[in-house]
Amino acid sequence: MAFESGLYVVATPIGNLADMSQRAIDILKAADIVAVEDSRVTGKLLHHLGLKKKMRRYNDHSSEGDRLSLIAAARDGVVALVSDAGTPLISDPGYKLVRSARDAGVAVRTAPGPSAAVAALSICGLPTDRFLFAGFLPSKAKARADALAELAKIKATLVFYESGPRLAATLSAISEAYGTRDVAIARELTKKFEEVVAGTADELADRYAAQEPRGEIVLIVGPPVEDEVAEAGDMDAALREALQTMPAAKAAGVIAKRFGLERSAVYTRATELKSE
Ligand code: SAM
Repeated sequence: MAFESGLYVVATPIGNLADMSQRAIDILKAADIVAVEDSRVTGKLLHHLGLKKKMRRYNDHSSEGDRLSLIAAARDGVVALVSDAGTPLISDPGYKLVRSARDAGVAVRTAPGPSAAVAALSICGLPTDRFLFAGFLPSKAKARADALAELAKIKATLVFYESGPRLAATLSAISEAYGTRDVAIARELTKKFEEVVAGTADELADRYAAQEPRGEIVLIVGPPVEDEVAEAGDMDAALREALQTMPAAKAAGVIAKRFGLERSAVYTRATELKSE
């Protein structure tokens, strides 16, 4: 099958090799170069497909020279970009390459397919009309709490990638930041032990603290209920007022008590408001 020259962003399976699309296979067959995150991982996929291809390692820390060389190859030939699993660029390398290729006037085409975020959303039973994909949360507690506070008022379902060892701590942080919103854990999608477990962050934190989950995980948090959004707005107003007359630490203590919130989260918000 003939393909026009260009950079092809090719999605690959997230666990079940049968999810590789025929078009994705045809593009890999036609590719002059396959840009890969890890040649061992993609090597296995290519082997499974019976293909032997020239692979070039690529990630967003690759040099400008590496990028230019791939872009030059995509001018006259077919360059396929894949990541270890799922859709490249979605918490995976490729953004800088796509951006540079577009800037250079090289055609960028998609071979869409699996992505864990969308797969999880489609079966978790939480609202899908508005969602925000937030990738991996920071692993350090303070940075994670700050990131959660920043997302608190967004009226949309939130989608995170997470690892088994960190899941319980992340769920505790979500419980502190968001209270009793609906949460779903989608694990091992498309694989033998695929499951979705739903509950509140608190319940799920206990469950996964008792037994660390294996495998790959998408964590989904339902949108705030209307009261919560209003309360967050009220809290900001009260905090602003308190900051006029007292230092951030004291204001955080007073407002946290009044709204029944975690002091550390209110303190984070107080420092943000002070620096606005
Ligand atoms: N680009 C990929 C995509 O489109 O889904 C995501 C790459 S990111 C580096 C890897 C993370 O995606 C994993 O740590 C996990 O959170 C999630 N993930 C990947 N495969 C999964 C699966 N089969 N089930 C659940 N989550 C998965």
